[in-house]
Amino acid sequence: MSAIAQQLDAVRGRIAAAARQAGRAETDVRLLAVSKTFPAEDVRIAHAAGQRAFGENYVQEGVDKIAALDDLRAAIEWHFIGPLQSNKTRPVAAAFDWVHSIDRLRIASRLAEQRPDHLPPLNVCVQVNVSGEASKSGVAPAETLELLRAVDALPRLKLRGLMAIPASADGVAAQRVPHRVLHALFTAARAAGLTLDTLSAGMSGDLEAAVAEGATLVRIGTAIFGHRDYSSPSLERT
Ligand SMILES: *Cc1c(COP(=O)(O)O)cnc(C)c1O
Repeated sequence: MSAIAQQLDAVRGRIAAAARQAGRAETDVRLLAVSKTFPAEDVRIAHAAGQRAFGENYVQEGVDKIAALDDLRAAIEWHFIGPLQSNKTRPVAAAFDWVHSIDRLRIASRLAEQRPDHLPPLNVCVQVNVSGEASKSGVAPAETLELLRAVDALPRLKLRGLMAIPASADGVAAQRVPHRVLHALFTAARAAGLTLDTLSAGMSGDLEAAVAEGATLVRIGTAIFGHRDYSSPSLERT
C-alpha cells in the first residue's frame, strides 16, 4: 500500500473515531483531500485509493492540475479553498466544482457571471473570520447572514454553507471554541431560512475539534500528503 493510501486510511479512521465520539454518523463528515503543492500524480494515487474530493489553494496550480488529470475529470470533485482575487475568478468559475472562500459579494457576483452555462451551478461556501484575526480572510460573523442572503440570490451558484480557518490553538478544548462559533452561525442562518448543508471546517491539526462541533466537511492536507514544500519555483501562489 502506498504511503498516501495508508495516510488516507489513518485520516478516515480519525474522522470515524471523532464522529463516533460526537454521537454522529461517520458518513455525515466528508473528507476533502487538500493537494496544494503536491503533484497531479499524488492526486492520482489518492484517487486510486478511493478519494474523490480534492482541494486546491492557488488558481494557476489548481487549473494546471485539473487539466493534467483530465482523464479523471468526471470522477473527481475539485474544490477551490484559497483566497480569491477578483481578477482571477474566471478560470476558477470555469474549472472548479466548488469554491469555499467567498468573503465578499464582488467575488460571488463575478463567479456567477463567469460560470459557464453548460456547467452545473458552482457550489459555494461563505468564509467566516471566526477568530477575528486581522490577517485572516473571511467575512465578520456579524455580516455573515447578509452576505449569505446576497450570494443565495445569485444565478449559476448553489449556496452550500460556511467555511472557516480558525486560529490555531493547543488542545481540543481550546480548538473547539471557534468551531462552536462557526456552528452557531450555521444554525442561525438555517433558522433564518437559508438552505445550507455544508460546514467546511477542520484541518490536519484540529479535525477532532471540528467534527465535535458539527463540521460536515474536513479539509486535510498534511496528514494525507505529508509536509508541504513551498520552495518549488513551479508554484505560482496567488
Ligand atoms: C492548506 C489548507 C488546508 C489543509 O491544511 P493541513 O493542515 O495541511 O491539513 C485546509 N484548508 C485550507 C483553506 C488550506 O489552505
